[in-house]
Amino acid sequence: MISLGIEGTAWSLSVGVVDEDEVLLIENDPYIPKEGGIHPREAAQHHSERIGPLIKSVLSKVDKVDVVSFSQGPGMGPCLRIVATAARVLSLKLGKPLVGVNHCLAHLEVGRWKTGAKNPVTLYVSGGNSQVIARRGKRYRVFGETLDIGIGNALDKLARYMGLKHPGGPRIEELAKRGKKYHELPYVVKGMDFSFSGMVTAAQKLYDDGVSKEDVAFSFQETAFAMLAEVSERAMAYLDRDELLLVGGVGANSRLAEMLKVMCKERNAKFYSPPKELMGDNGAMIAYLGLLMFKHGYETRLENSTVKPDFRIEEVDVSWD
Ligand code: AMP
Ligand code: MG
Repeated sequence: MISLGIEGTAWSLSVGVVDEDEVLLIENDPYIPKEGGIHPREAAQHHSERIGPLIKSVLSKVDKVDVVSFSQGPGMGPCLRIVATAARVLSLKLGKPLVGVNHCLAHLEVGRWKTGAKNPVTLYVSGGNSQVIARRGKRYRVFGETLDIGIGNALDKLARYMGLKHPGGPRIEELAKRGKKYHELPYVVKGMDFSFSGMVTAAQKLYDDGVSKEDVAFSFQETAFAMLAEVSERAMAYLDRDELLLVGGVGANSRLAEMLKVMCKERNAKFYSPPKELMGDNGAMIAYLGLLMFKHGYETRLENSTVKPDFRIEEVDVSWD
């Protein structure tokens, strides 16, 4: 069975194709802001201009499609609407079933699929989201999450303040490698939740006070990633899990992965992360979750295919292993 998935919740516009065993194809046409951060309407405009040619290009490379999957949320409303419209049209045109999927769950399930992690605690870190997730019975539950902005947005915001281009995460990572001196920043973990916006403000102040970009980036990463590692570890301890899965765009950061690996080693736990092309937002993860759901009896009728900008992972009934 072959599933085609469309992703476009924010900056990434991507179409992927998978079968039960592997990712067959991913084609991307991302929105890259000329300056500043992601503007929802500009991103949607970009998606609406590019989605047609992108789908055409992908269809010319596959023999058949059995299911059309799309990310139904969470994400930016204007972007989601473009993707949902394209998916409906494609499903009608091909006469194939439609499956709307939860974007966060897609990150998680593609991670499990490609790493072999069975019942992990998942640290999902991306632009807009930062959550510690684990499955209990037929639902995934969020055990800890950001109280304000996602870690990716925090990195992007700090980078922009220091004159670096979007996306800032990878640039902060490069700068941090050359950082020498650690400057203290607010370490905000409240119970199982965390917060980044105060840290961004404090880091911006360090930069204004003349601290080098390298040291600001280094101090920011060390503090923020320690917070994420602490909550992930606590979730593993509470839930008695010995697997940690790292997913989402910020998961590409090697310092974050390194800190989590050390933590896992100390607890005798296994650390997993999927290949880089499946880390950030991509169409293949949507295609994979659509396939998994369809095989387990899910199908989205047209009248239920409206977008869900605040779609939570807990809302999805999970009937697969
Ligand atoms: P996503 O929303 O999952 O596609 O992730 C996008 C976010 O990942 C953006 O905020 C990027 O700045 C961030 N990102 C990508 N690569 C890295 C990296 N190497 N280190 C830190 N953040 C990164
Ligand atoms: Mg994402």
